[in-house]
Amino acid sequence: MQYQPVRNFINGNFTDASTSQSLHVISPLDGRLLSSVPLSSKTELDLAVEAAQKAFSSWSRTPIKERVQVFFRYKFLLEKNLEELAGLVQEENGKTMGEAVAEIEKCIELTEFACSLPQLVTGEVLEVSKGVECRTEHVPLGVVASIVPFNFPSMVPNWTIPNAIALGNCMILKPSEKVPLSAGRIAELLKEAGLPDGVFNIVHGDVDIVEAICDHPGIDAVTFVGSTKVAKIIYQRATGNFKRCLALGGAKNHLMVMPDAIPGMTAQNVSASMSGCAGQRCMAASAMVAVGDVDHIIQKIVEEAKKIIPGENLGAVINKASKERIEKYITEAEEQGAKILLDGRNAVVKGKESGTYVGPTVIDHVKPDMAIAKEEVFGPVISIMRTKNVEEALAIENANPYGNAASVFTQNGAVARYIIERASAGMIGVNVGVPVPREPFSFGGWNESKFGVGDITGKSSIEFFTRLKKSTVKWNPEAGVNWMS
Ligand code: NAD
Repeated sequence: MQYQPVRNFINGNFTDASTSQSLHVISPLDGRLLSSVPLSSKTELDLAVEAAQKAFSSWSRTPIKERVQVFFRYKFLLEKNLEELAGLVQEENGKTMGEAVAEIEKCIELTEFACSLPQLVTGEVLEVSKGVECRTEHVPLGVVASIVPFNFPSMVPNWTIPNAIALGNCMILKPSEKVPLSAGRIAELLKEAGLPDGVFNIVHGDVDIVEAICDHPGIDAVTFVGSTKVAKIIYQRATGNFKRCLALGGAKNHLMVMPDAIPGMTAQNVSASMSGCAGQRCMAASAMVAVGDVDHIIQKIVEEAKKIIPGENLGAVINKASKERIEKYITEAEEQGAKILLDGRNAVVKGKESGTYVGPTVIDHVKPDMAIAKEEVFGPVISIMRTKNVEEALAIENANPYGNAASVFTQNGAVARYIIERASAGMIGVNVGVPVPREPFSFGGWNESKFGVGDITGKSSIEFFTRLKKSTVKWNPEAGVNWMS
């Protein structure tokens, strides 16, 4: 084993779980055994909640300008340790080093936003009647839990950690059992940055611990990021227990390509969007809707995709089961009459034969009713569907139950606007393959890509991680002559 067994982080210390049950942590890059992760029990969750509740009383009363000082220092530590943090992400997740560096850079941007929160949560005050003031304040919720997926071991935890904690909450993170290593380094850096013990805790595990989080009476709010199947379970269970919940699910993102799109730029964007992080991004292009005659663009997409080489500029998919699932989608589409223009099945990287790689795959003449067209594939695969006009393209996009992202490639502003207004997705791109909004704009999809109100990052997260306290104040007995009470 390359690393020590992963441990929980409770009340500022790494601690062993009380159970001996654990899972292997395997590097998708080459099948190496990296570590083991404990399947914690409710006992550990109880300890973490107790620590977080205890820390909350003083952390929530620390002025926000003081709280964010921790995140100024944390940002500096992320920058200082960028290479090492990126290396860890690469090893446990299998993405390329360039992608892992970009992931840590995004963590830095998320932290910068948290540092700006004092400017955004000033509350409001108004003299509502002579000598009578009404005031609103954003007050933290208490203990919040964050349950995260495998595809961004550092970025998705950092979607919630800086904002939730800077806003005065205490947190319990449940990392993905497939990529639990980065979380431990996040805990160490937060501690080094001066975060008081108990404010941030990690409890590792899988289904049982997630269910215990949803049921725990000491946890006030739950955020979840992962597949739609699990997002629905979490949302129902957490809200059924009267917790505030925001659950982000899976995606099936459509790129609509018009004949007037700039061929080179479009091809580059499409191939980067479908293959970045080996297609394991909830914002990845998975379906391309070709409107009219765009053969010349499709040809360029294939040329671009051919430049993407597994083990060089294309990382691994998370595990063997994932590789097999992705390849099954491709085989089924082929059997049903789709045309494979570039085939990434059976990819092997020399010297890393136990790695789980899928090469870039471009499939043309996919029909909207095929599984590969409808379901989330989560691999470096683009399915091209042919349509005659924009209405047909929009009908395909609108029919899909997900709604994270959609993009249009065109030089016509009116067409772009038409699609922005009608695409049923929370994040829209115009000539942009991965339309992730950057801070201070918030991140969040629609439909079955998100359950709950508001978004998880940016300004919208302030509403989720706080509640409003409204006070009405009068000091002068003569004041408020026209007051109602
Ligand atoms: P997943 O749903 O399998 O797991 C996510 C988390 O839920 C993990 O921590 C896991 O331990 C836990 N979990 C798994 N099954 C569970 C169950 N039955 N009950 C309770 N908890 C359970 O997701 P994943 O495979 O780790 O991540 C990939 C998925 O995440 C994709 O669908 C992707 O689109 C989605 N994702 C969405 C966004 C977004 O912003 N919408 C961002 C990143 C990833």
